[in-house]
Amino acid sequence: MSFQSLGLAPALLRALADHGYATPTSIQSQAIPLVLAGHDVLGSAQTGTGKTAAFALPVLDRLSRQTPPAGPRRPQALILVPTRELAVQVADSFKTYGRHLRLNVTTLFGGVGMQPQVDQLRRGVDVLVACPGRLIDHLERVSVSLDGVSVLVLDEADRMLDMGFLPAIKRIVNRVPKQRQTLLFSATFEPRIKALALEFLKNPREVQV
Ligand code: AMP
Repeated sequence: MSFQSLGLAPALLRALADHGYATPTSIQSQAIPLVLAGHDVLGSAQTGTGKTAAFALPVLDRLSRQTPPAGPRRPQALILVPTRELAVQVADSFKTYGRHLRLNVTTLFGGVGMQPQVDQLRRGVDVLVACPGRLIDHLERVSVSLDGVSVLVLDEADRMLDMGFLPAIKRIVNRVPKQRQTLLFSATFEPRIKALALEFLKNPREVQV
């Protein structure tokens, strides 16, 4: 199995080669074809399995093929993560794999000033990686619109629930168009994760490592 045989865009294959990645990990070879085919995906994978690239690569592939919505550049992909550290890490992965694409990747997390984030949003965003609490703050200030989001990723959903983000997640998902692709990753498929998937995903395919 190679990244090439998964059908990823040449600009992504080039970024992977730059990075020295030759072979997809198990979660990547399972999830990437499903995401590229447009399915919603429920994935169980721990950190260290290559799960970030398992969603970042096909999401970037999608964005590279679709025409961005007209008007100022609003987020087309929204990645919800539990912590600031993970937000930075996930955004770095999108920047690394997307280095040959012209896409803006922005993070939103708490503990820092709102204004620099507002300014960044105003400059235009394609991929938004956000912690739920701070994203709610921006939605209340109307500094961000989720109307252009076509792919939504819930990463480390189990940890987001542990941290009490369920009400925030529900409010956020309500602001994302119903016509979208949704991916949900969690370390385990416990009942509360299954319930979340039932609420937010349509006919999801399951992948496990
Ligand atoms: P993650 O599980 O997403 O946190 O990734 C774990 C680590 O594996 C990260 O340092 C990635 O850069 C690296 N990685 C992801 N995919 C591959 C791959 N196909 N080949 C080699 N390293 C990878």
